[in-house]
Amino acid sequence: MGVTKNITVIGAGMAGSDAALAAAELGVMVDLYEMRPKKMTPAHHTDRFAELVCSNSLGGEGDTNAKGLLQAEMLLAGGLIMRSAQATRIPAGGALAVDREQFGNLVTQTLKEHPNIKVHQEELTDIPEGIVVIASGPLTSEALATSLQKTLGTEFLGFYDAAAPVIAADSIDMSVVYRKGRYEQAADYLNVPFTKEQYDGWFAALGEARSHSPHDWEKLEFFEGCMPIEEIARRGYDTPRFGPMKPVGLEHPETGKRFFAVAQLRQEDVRGQMWSLVGFQTGLKWGDQKTLIQLMPGLENADIVRYGVMHRNTYLNAPKLLNPILNVREHPQLFVAGVLAGTEGYLESSATGWLAGSNAARQALGLEPLLPPEDSMLGGLVHYLSSAQSDNFQPMNANWGLVPNIEKKKGMGKADRRRAMYQQGLSSFKEWYEEKVKS
Ligand SMILES: Cc1cc2nc3c(=O)[nH]c(=O)nc-3n(C[C@H](O)[C@H](O)[C@H](O)COP(=O)(O)OP(=O)(O)OC[C@H]3O[C@@H](n4cnc5c(N)ncnc54)[C@H](O)[C@@H]3O)c2cc1C
Repeated sequence: MGVTKNITVIGAGMAGSDAALAAAELGVMVDLYEMRPKKMTPAHHTDRFAELVCSNSLGGEGDTNAKGLLQAEMLLAGGLIMRSAQATRIPAGGALAVDREQFGNLVTQTLKEHPNIKVHQEELTDIPEGIVVIASGPLTSEALATSLQKTLGTEFLGFYDAAAPVIAADSIDMSVVYRKGRYEQAADYLNVPFTKEQYDGWFAALGEARSHSPHDWEKLEFFEGCMPIEEIARRGYDTPRFGPMKPVGLEHPETGKRFFAVAQLRQEDVRGQMWSLVGFQTGLKWGDQKTLIQLMPGLENADIVRYGVMHRNTYLNAPKLLNPILNVREHPQLFVAGVLAGTEGYLESSATGWLAGSNAARQALGLEPLLPPEDSMLGGLVHYLSSAQSDNFQPMNANWGLVPNIEKKKGMGKADRRRAMYQQGLSSFKEWYEEKVKS
């Protein structure tokens, strides 16, 4: 008689639900731990699995949308969250929105009724022995967070997002923006130069911009090192110019021209397709962030692939810790998924859950792990997680900067290029899925 293989999944949220089903469907026994309703998080209100804590949308659909590509991949893979979202969708003009009650009920019922899944409605305070998928999310209970720190090292677990906006490289006007390091440092930065008049206009707009009002439990104490740009500006007209917009040592390399203020962009990914505004972490509303960024010289057409956020969040420094198959380099039996693994968003969390759950089960069964191709959205995302800049790493959502750019051809607009990237990503994922997953 064969020995039963089993794994543990911690958390039945967006990632853990997909992880549990993917593993169970591979024939592995799953112990699924969910602490709600016995112990609630500050954002969840029900005992349903995969509770949508805020919006009821899994993002925009369609073949020019990065989330649309990830949705198509997860539908193909039969992910539980995508399947349930399709079954409970409601009209939302171009977005995949769901009836949150029906959606949560369907996910919960599917998992509770599965013969290979044993649900334990209790908090896990320690990482158990054996193969484990940790998917306890941005509001991981304190005891488990402490246990994670003990296992992985205190410096690898972040508790706040203080993220600056990230911009697609191909939307930056390089006839205005120039490469240079401060003084004689390596030319690793892109510099956005302001004259006094441009700075005045931009500073006035910043004064008008509106902030998200954080939940009480999210109110942050600002540390000097990660103060939001709006707070820096509140301290005075010149404060940004002595902080993240300091122009000294950034004269134009060709003309020698000095600027009144200079904002800097730092490379985020190995391919150099995504650049973040250094020191511009912000809690401003997304529309206002867009207006402010597009007021910057050379960023008038900026395509913002991730907006800045300031909120409570528990996540690992994925590039320092994780392999792209989503296990911990130093502890290969430990898989991580969802926000804890450095993703952002319901859909991204569920997709990494599917991959981590599949790979945990495959490890139990002695099978090769799965690694989606880099030009698919899921592949691009997990490659990013394991290879991004680890200094000040911030969680990432699905976006076009994660997959290789398609070469610009004459007459090809932005939408055509996105469509080509979508087709390329989906056919590559499909081919990989047929060959490696289904077989
Ligand atoms: C307030 C807030 C609002 C958000 N709004 C959105 C939004 O509108 N759209 C969007 O796309 N993303 C949003 N996000 C980001 C993110 O996509 C969601 O949080 C998403 O649910 C993350 O999926 P996850 O599986 O990583 O975590 P979760 O879905 O939170 O699942 C984690 C689960 O683990 C359980 N758990 C925690 N600790 C333990 C333990 N020790 N033992 C057992 N169980 C445990 C929790 O109860 C929870 O059910 C939001 C995040 C927050 C915090």
